[in-house]
Amino acid sequence: SPPSTYRGRFAPSPTGPLHLGSLLAAVGSWLLARQAGGQWWLRIEDVDGPRTVAGAAQQQMDTLAAFGLAPDGPVVWQSQRGERYAQVLQSLVNRDLAFACHCSRTELAATGGIHHACVARRERAHPAWRLRVAPGAVIGFHDGLQGQYQQDVHAQVGDVVLRRADGQWAYQLAVVVDDADQGMTDIVRGADLLDSTPRQILLQHALGWSTPRYLHLPLLIGADGQKLSKSLAAAPVDGADPKPALRLVWEALGQDPRRLPWQAPLASLMSAAVPAFDPARIPKQGRLPVSALHNKTDSTAV
Ligand code: GLU
Repeated sequence: SPPSTYRGRFAPSPTGPLHLGSLLAAVGSWLLARQAGGQWWLRIEDVDGPRTVAGAAQQQMDTLAAFGLAPDGPVVWQSQRGERYAQVLQSLVNRDLAFACHCSRTELAATGGIHHACVARRERAHPAWRLRVAPGAVIGFHDGLQGQYQQDVHAQVGDVVLRRADGQWAYQLAVVVDDADQGMTDIVRGADLLDSTPRQILLQHALGWSTPRYLHLPLLIGADGQKLSKSLAAAPVDGADPKPALRLVWEALGQDPRRLPWQAPLASLMSAAVPAFDPARIPKQGRLPVSALHNKTDSTAV
């Protein structure tokens, strides 16, 4: 059979140690790529200088390696790609699809921070750069898990920031340029980014680029329906003892724990997980079993 053209990725922001929520995106994107016979790449999204924590990227990569998640392509660092982002922005400016914006946060407060027209009362030495979003720019797409999703980008977002006034490249620009340049066919990531996707598709349209497939994985929530971001989902993952976290993530992805040999070495466990993984069981929202929450260490006893 011909080689698969599927190429997916995991794109963590190095703002701290890898946590359970990002492990779910890492494992989910890896399993879907592997099951499709495709590639899985890693991109370090250190585009936001001020938020980047020194050493965090290496720490995250070490943790991923401890889970047997090894990238198939070169690791791409967004902090190295400024020239490319500048070139893409310039191409939009040249066609008047992007513009310099001198508005301050205070000036935009009246419209809830949504930018529709420049209201700046003075020129700033360092403007922000925005994508022009026309009225009626409604973008819909079919998400591989969440189904049909639609957003009126003009009404709900306004003109999209591509480069901030402080000179930092916006995530929305960097992610679109990188996913395209790296030939990504399938974007699998957390559902917290579902409402960023229409913006990214709009940018792809402006650039005349194709749109990859998207699948937004469930966000972890507790059995009681509470969001876990401040507790367990945000807890650092222990690379020295990967199985309990793997088991949590496997179950949060709707998978039957009895289908995996938890006593086996990690490498065998991971290869067994690929054919055992059933994407049809992934829930739209993740709900951890109460037992998993209270008894993380007991996870190998099935
Ligand atoms: N860097 C983003 C994050 O960690 C993910 C971006 C993406 O997968 O598109 O939330």
